[in-house]
Amino acid sequence: MQQGSEVTVKKDKENPLQEVLEFAASVIWLGIAFGIAIAGGTEAFKDLVSLRTTIIESLVVVFFAFVFHELAHRVVARRYGYKAVYHVWIPGLLLAMAASLAGFLFAAPGGVHIEMGQNLSEARAKLGKSALAGPVVNIILSIVFAVLSFALIYFLDFYLASTGKTLAEVESTVNLLWGITIIGVEINAWLAVFNLIPFGNLDGYKVFQWNKKVWTVVFVISIGLYFLMTWGQSKLFG
Ligand SMILES: [Zn+2]
Repeated sequence: MQQGSEVTVKKDKENPLQEVLEFAASVIWLGIAFGIAIAGGTEAFKDLVSLRTTIIESLVVVFFAFVFHELAHRVVARRYGYKAVYHVWIPGLLLAMAASLAGFLFAAPGGVHIEMGQNLSEARAKLGKSALAGPVVNIILSIVFAVLSFALIYFLDFYLASTGKTLAEVESTVNLLWGITIIGVEINAWLAVFNLIPFGNLDGYKVFQWNKKVWTVVFVISIGLYFLMTWGQSKLFG
């Protein structure tokens, strides 16, 4: 996610409870917003039962996608000795919801603010690596969810054959798990692409400033993953 104004030296008081609350609020808000966007924006409110299911699936995915993305920034930055604290960005949350109602995914709900000294050129590599950690986590998670979706199909055949149950008996559970894996691939692939855009406060800008080769490789991988996912979905559902 965007990392806010970490290059300005900002004195953050350590307040673990506040950080957890800001984090939790971002996850819940973003999970609901992404659910609405994936279900089709304002159109989705015509079918509240289906919207509710999509929001539940989205909340599960956003929990993993967002927590591990931000934790990755935080862990890498702290390993370099920086003070790194998550802060919510309220205008970003409002933008995310507005975009979702229009049927688009947008994610700048806040980010890990990294406090560092004034020597930015020396810090550029460390900042770049801290920024890179988030989108890399989303690329990995997207692949993990893709593997899980195939595992689900495989396991389902095996489960039905060995228990003698019919598909109808397990359909609701299977649909929920299937929804989570599919949305998991989509949201994570999209988060990687979005956050790697080399602009503004996005992670991509810091990676680009640090090392253009690394940025190009990771950006090409995430774009490729996103198109592969879109192609896979059209094969499955188109
Ligand atoms: Zn990020």
